[in-house]
Amino acid sequence: MSVPTAAADSAICAPLPVLGGDVLVPLVTGGEVAYAALDYAASAPALQRVWDDVAAYAPYYGSVHRGAGYLSQLSTDLFENSRATVAEFLGCREGDQVVFTRSTTDSLNLLAAVVPADCEVFVFETEHHASLLPWRDAAVTYLDAPRTPQQAVATLERALAARTAVSPGGQGSALVCVTGASNVTGELWPVRELAAAAHAHGARIVLDAAQLAPHHPVDIAELDVDWVAFSGHKLYAPFGSGVLAGRSDWLQEAEPYLAGGGASRRVARRGDGGVDVEWHTTAARHEAGSPNVIGVYSIASACKALTEAGFDSLVAREQSLVSRVRAGLAEVPAVKVLSLFGDEAPRVGVISFVVEGWNSSHFAAALSAEYGIGVRDGLFCAHPLVRTLLGSDPQDQGECGAPESEPGETSLNAVRVSFGAGTPDEHVERFVTAVKELVRDGARWNYRTEDGRCVPAV
Ligand code: PLP
Repeated sequence: MSVPTAAADSAICAPLPVLGGDVLVPLVTGGEVAYAALDYAASAPALQRVWDDVAAYAPYYGSVHRGAGYLSQLSTDLFENSRATVAEFLGCREGDQVVFTRSTTDSLNLLAAVVPADCEVFVFETEHHASLLPWRDAAVTYLDAPRTPQQAVATLERALAARTAVSPGGQGSALVCVTGASNVTGELWPVRELAAAAHAHGARIVLDAAQLAPHHPVDIAELDVDWVAFSGHKLYAPFGSGVLAGRSDWLQEAEPYLAGGGASRRVARRGDGGVDVEWHTTAARHEAGSPNVIGVYSIASACKALTEAGFDSLVAREQSLVSRVRAGLAEVPAVKVLSLFGDEAPRVGVISFVVEGWNSSHFAAALSAEYGIGVRDGLFCAHPLVRTLLGSDPQDQGECGAPESEPGETSLNAVRVSFGAGTPDEHVERFVTAVKELVRDGARWNYRTEDGRCVPAV
């Protein structure tokens, strides 16, 4: 994976217009402030362009692949053109398929449902749960957390070589699942090198691009990965769609992910009373039911908006924000930034940290209530990774996002700040100032735990 540095001469662009930039939120200390959305890694705000495109299409909304009416045909065209746009955005190869799903989680579960019966899956323990958990029916090897990108490649090489040694020559299929950018540390993984290692050992590889695609160009052919999965709501298109794109063979050889209309080409009663079904061999095979045309169109709109804005200048802008936040946090000795690959590792705008003496839920609540800043606290659905980074027992897995201690106590959770193409400088400046003030002066309000979350005690 190449370093997220923009071309040397690329100008830093202005933030892309997003919805919500002028939303005012109340402060416990009095008054209101414009909300600073710094939780892009969970869900990014909608691009204004996406919203405008969806609004312009809305009056023409119609059934997809079903109706004979004009609007149905228009909607069907829009849906299929969106598939072509996404294929272009991802640099898909001849013969690749783009399947529309609900999210990255759905995409990876779909892939898990179609892997061949003898498939062995290799996944680093550092993955998001969406990559870690779907492989229920496969033999899964969980790889230890590497501490450098080179170690990641070496660890995978070793695991795949051991597999080859056990079943020389005639081994069954194997799949490696790897994230492009960590949703905890923001660090980039050496995707191209991992893909080369996988292929050298006859394995395939799927890239979880949930955190990569919104921040960095993802080219399936150039990275030489077999599949890519991502979610619309992290790519500024919050209408409930996701993507699984890549090799068609496993997808087409397997039973449909969902059985029903849309996936079936022909259904007929058999003489013995049963039903014969001929399934589609296109992407439709795994898209049964009425598709989410708005969600799909919004993803295509976001792909176009990011491409037209120019990833080089988007990356340049984001990297300047990353530098500002990291430099600000480095000035606060009580703050420890979580990192697997070290300070020099290339990363996107996702930074997690703990603050000495603070429960992370308390810290996040104070950022919200006293500064109008929305971040996330918890284990970020990557429990083994966060616990490894915190140096605490990786077996002790709390609920996603649940604080583990009362306000004021030191926490085993972390705080995550994340940003992207729509983030104005003021948001990260406010965040850095807030961190410094909270650490220096403490919270100005009292907080209590309610339903597992830290909230202002009003
Ligand atoms: N993979 C990574 C790296 C993520 O950060 C996330 C969500 O945070 C997912 C997968 C799952 O995405 P979704 O919740 O959209 O299915």
